[in-house]
Amino acid sequence: MKIIVCIKQVPDSASIEVDPEKGTLKRTGHNSKTNPYDLFALEAALRIREKAGGIVTALTMGPKQAEEMMRDAYMMGVDEAVILSDPKFAGSDVLATSYTLFQGIRSLGGADLIICGKQTTDGDTAQIGPAIAEHLGIPHVAWVNSIEDISGEAITVLQKTGSCIQQSQMKYPCLITVEKDIFVPRLPSYKLGLATAKRSVRFLSCDALPDKNMSCFGLIGSPTAVERMFPPEVSDVREYIHGTPAEKSDRMFELLKKRKLI
Ligand SMILES: Cc1cc2nc3c(=O)[nH]c(=O)nc-3n(C[C@H](O)[C@H](O)[C@H](O)COP(=O)(O)OP(=O)(O)OC[C@H]3O[C@@H](n4cnc5c(N)ncnc54)[C@H](O)[C@@H]3O)c2cc1C
Repeated sequence: MKIIVCIKQVPDSASIEVDPEKGTLKRTGHNSKTNPYDLFALEAALRIREKAGGIVTALTMGPKQAEEMMRDAYMMGVDEAVILSDPKFAGSDVLATSYTLFQGIRSLGGADLIICGKQTTDGDTAQIGPAIAEHLGIPHVAWVNSIEDISGEAITVLQKTGSCIQQSQMKYPCLITVEKDIFVPRLPSYKLGLATAKRSVRFLSCDALPDKNMSCFGLIGSPTAVERMFPPEVSDVREYIHGTPAEKSDRMFELLKKRKLI
């Protein structure tokens, strides 16, 4: 079974900063880590490989510094690591990012199963997985809570949607995005770190991708325009409410209504 896991390096949430001029997240020069949700995707892939055999490839689109994240993926047990990296990819929104990942998957010869995390902790849209599946023209199930069965031809998954539990069976090739309760991710292994220390991480630039038409990549391929990005204002203004219980609840009601919370 050929499994590709899409993982993304994100800024450590404790050190997120916004560039005041560009209004974008500062993504370099800060502590970065593997998107926490992607650790669950990696774990799912490794468990499937343990059961069904095969090869797990970690794939990312990102700057060169993503190599650090790929070394951690090797320490968890992935077989191959590929980084799609090119200045031409800069400024990619969800559409361009998912298109680039789709192209990366095609240049790797496709996969039986593609696994993504549920969402990232920086972009947070949860759209990349389903968008990759659309580009590939394959079925997908998002926010999978458990894998019920793996056979040679299909995967059966459970998804809790709030009001119901849905069980789906998909034939390969297909894509799932996984929830954080699917498995407990294993810790990186020191032994695997030593064993894979010399294993290379493969870099693919735009030229290596099947589609040479630049209109689908980077800023040109990104129809989204972010008007402004800013940290929420922090206010520590407090009001003490005094009076009888009825007066207090009237005032509380008034305040909540004013803030459009009720
Ligand atoms: C106009 C615009 C310009 C932008 N410019 C940049 C930029 O220059 N540089 C930049 O880093 N970001 C940029 N972004 C943000 C970037 O578009 C998003 O980070 C990207 O689309 C992924 O979306 P998300 O983080 O919401 O992922 P989600 O959809 O929340 O992620 C779901 C899952 O998809 C997979 N995934 C997501 N992103 C990647 C990836 N890159 N590689 C592998 N797997 C992935 C992971 O498995 C993840 O758990 C820009 C966004 C906009 C709107």
